Amino acid sequence: MVKARKIVLVRHFEGQPRTEDFRIEEEDLPPVKDGQILAEAVYFSVDPFQKSHTAMHHVGDTFYGAQEDRSTLLLVQLSCVSAAVRWCNAEAYPQVARIVESRAPGFPVGRHVVAYWGWRDRTVADVGSGRPQPPLYVLPPRLVPHLGDLPLSLSLGVLGMPGNSAYFPLLDICKPKPGEVVAVTGAAGAVGSIVGQIARIKGCTVIGFAGSDAKVKWLKEELGFHHAFNYKKTDVSTALKQAAPDGVDVYFDNVGGDMSTKVMSNMRYRGRIVVIGAISQYNDLEHQKLVNLPFTFLAQQLRLEGCAVARYHDRWEEGISQLTKWVREGKIKYRETVTKGFENTPRAFIGMLRGENFGKAVVKL
Ligand code: NAP
Repeated sequence: MVKARKIVLVRHFEGQPRTEDFRIEEEDLPPVKDGQILAEAVYFSVDPFQKSHTAMHHVGDTFYGAQEDRSTLLLVQLSCVSAAVRWCNAEAYPQVARIVESRAPGFPVGRHVVAYWGWRDRTVADVGSGRPQPPLYVLPPRLVPHLGDLPLSLSLGVLGMPGNSAYFPLLDICKPKPGEVVAVTGAAGAVGSIVGQIARIKGCTVIGFAGSDAKVKWLKEELGFHHAFNYKKTDVSTALKQAAPDGVDVYFDNVGGDMSTKVMSNMRYRGRIVVIGAISQYNDLEHQKLVNLPFTFLAQQLRLEGCAVARYHDRWEEGISQLTKWVREGKIKYRETVTKGFENTPRAFIGMLRGENFGKAVVKL
């Protein structure tokens, strides 16, 4: 009998998560059936949305997997708590895993998959049809393309979900034009650091907001952001008046809250805003702050759209192959914050929420 370890939720978070909110458990895995694989995790992703999900979690659930939590997801969905809650539950978080046994054509032993199984070190699972299952849109396991000399972990970062979360909402929804001003919050994170670099490649002036001087230095000196500010020290409106006196054309919102309201108050005529994250609000999704700027939206004729990246599942490989090309050409640089050890996963998660990561936060098992 093959055993698996998994990290489960012991209690719901009160404010910021703590390591005591998690526990490691062991379970026996079933034999592999036709259409299934057995895979061993190599890297886990730790992602901000895992925090917002906790209220919808059952204590004892694996944190946060699509596979075995499907019944919870469906229950929450059927109860129609709210659109926001329903959407949050449509996402689960990925790991990259090596196939060690396979009864699924096209998924050979030795290859790697990115799969939304949460924090568990071994998994027996269906590989499915290769298409997400609406209405939940949990992405099915995908084979990692041959990456050559690039690290496998990039398939959880710039060459995976965060990379596509930058690529599609920026290019497909905001459509930045050369010479326009693009602002991004969470700028030194997994998604934000890629957003700014794509905008720079497209000939835009790029403004980033991040939470430390070291991050600001990295954005300006290594990633080519034209302006970057430490939002903990600099007032966002003052910074924008200096860096973009005529206003912002495109705002890529990773954080929500007061910072976003300030950026949205400084938009140019016909500006475009995409909201893909709201990390400043994940403690309390019941009382989110909404943008209180209806006249600004009218006067400037702004457009705002929310986006869950799974909507681009049918164009997934397009984003990954363009990002891979830019990384190979040196046009996009990446950084990862790697924590070692399965048991240190909650610590990596908590550190990422505190802003300890540069680029993508991952755990190496
Ligand atoms: P990340 O930026 O790599 O990591 C989270 C960062 O958030 C931290 O490093 C910290 O950086 C910042 N942060 C923490 N608390 C904050 C606060 N109160 N105000 C402002 N910033 C705060 O995370 P990511 O994976 O790239 O995700 C970025 C956002 O996109 C998240 O909101 C995430 O939920 C969302 N997301 C959405 C989708 C989608 O499909 N819609 C997909 C992926 C990610 P600082 O040091 O700068 O504070």
